[in-house]
Amino acid sequence: MIIWGHKGYKKLLGTSGYPIDCSHCNNQQAWQLLEVGKKFTLYFIPLFPYGRKYYLTCPVCGSGMEVDKKDLPNYLSN
Ligand SMILES: [Zn+2]
Repeated sequence: MIIWGHKGYKKLLGTSGYPIDCSHCNNQQAWQLLEVGKKFTLYFIPLFPYGRKYYLTCPVCGSGMEVDKKDLPNYLSN
């Protein structure tokens, strides 16, 4: 019997190099860039990620927006 499954993960890629005004909580902060996705697992060993999405989020209230992977370098400070 083959045991497979999937597991969600969240990875902090970095923060924006400039402050962004949050229209939700009205704070001005460097926002966090997150990679959110799932990992395919076989016998409970994570093998490869799929369904990856990228989000720019406010560190104060957690609201944010989805960004394209190709735009990530525009947001990252390093
Ligand atoms: Zn906010």
